[in-house]
Amino acid sequence: MIITMSSSATKKEIARVKEKIKELGYEAKTFRGVKKAVIHVIGATDRERIAQSVEQLPGVERLTPILSPFKLGSREFHPEDTIVSINGKTIGGKEIVIMAGPCAVESEDVILKIAKEVKKAGASILRGGAFKPRSSPYSFQGLGEKGLKILAEARKQTGLSIITEVVSEIDVPLVAKYADILQIGARNMQNYQLLKTVGRFNKPVLLKRGISATIEEWLMAAEYIQSEGNHHVILCERGIRTFETYTRYTLDISTVPVIKELSHLPIIVDPSHPAGNSKYVPALARAAIAAGADGILIEVHTQPSKALSDGKQSIKPEIFNGLMEDLKKIAEAMGRKI
Ligand code: PEP
Ligand code: MN
Repeated sequence: MIITMSSSATKKEIARVKEKIKELGYEAKTFRGVKKAVIHVIGATDRERIAQSVEQLPGVERLTPILSPFKLGSREFHPEDTIVSINGKTIGGKEIVIMAGPCAVESEDVILKIAKEVKKAGASILRGGAFKPRSSPYSFQGLGEKGLKILAEARKQTGLSIITEVVSEIDVPLVAKYADILQIGARNMQNYQLLKTVGRFNKPVLLKRGISATIEEWLMAAEYIQSEGNHHVILCERGIRTFETYTRYTLDISTVPVIKELSHLPIIVDPSHPAGNSKYVPALARAAIAAGADGILIEVHTQPSKALSDGKQSIKPEIFNGLMEDLKKIAEAMGRKI
């Protein structure tokens, strides 16, 4: 259950409501928005009793019972779309955000070339992993902090914001020092300790869907981040494991309208990892924007055959350029803009 306090509610009135909730045997968490405070009553089973005790208290505007297992991410809790701002760009509003770059940061020279190309084509955020969660421990694991420093240099030179993955709880402070968005990869979607840690940072988090996760499990993972106080969560569909083998994963495009119905959080699509092959990537990217996604996260490389990871699915800048032209038209048809 969520208790919305009126905009004029005082600190004392909020404290009184929380006290009452505790007396009833529940835990209460307060979230302060720009205008109002809301109190989340955790595990509220006896809704009648809570309503009777709290409804009439001064400062209480309304009580909203939330029936879905995900609370803070649900539309019932927050009917308006959440808009995440990154250096003047918005995600989840009218704008479509394009995050592009290599799978991994390989060297300053390579990333700078790619960054300049994707910027010229219309991307606003540069992607690139410095810590790579590889399926094999013998594959390139990323440059670590050196990679983060290279990303920061690319931001300085191009003005692009940076998204990069954090794979472990202990690395969160370090990655947060450099990144504009913290990426949680598919393999870590249910690493609850990592989710809680990024939830305590004041940095937007992009949460990828787990390889075999249901939509509900994914939204529950997002709940771990939000319940620690970080509400800047962006969901990212990246394909799920099915019986199909012609593509690397199966892009579950239906998550886009389903998430839009269930949640107020922005959702973007990664067309690269489900495709697994660069020739399928543009079609999946176009489908994502047509389905109503708030953006894409796409792998672009100037020399895919030399890439240290995911070269097979990385598109070249000239393909990306043409794709951007298509996406601009689709965005316009959807009443949005890039
Ligand atoms: C990536 O974005 O390069 C990545 C590792 O993605 P995922 O976590 O979706 O496999
Ligand atoms: Mn990759």
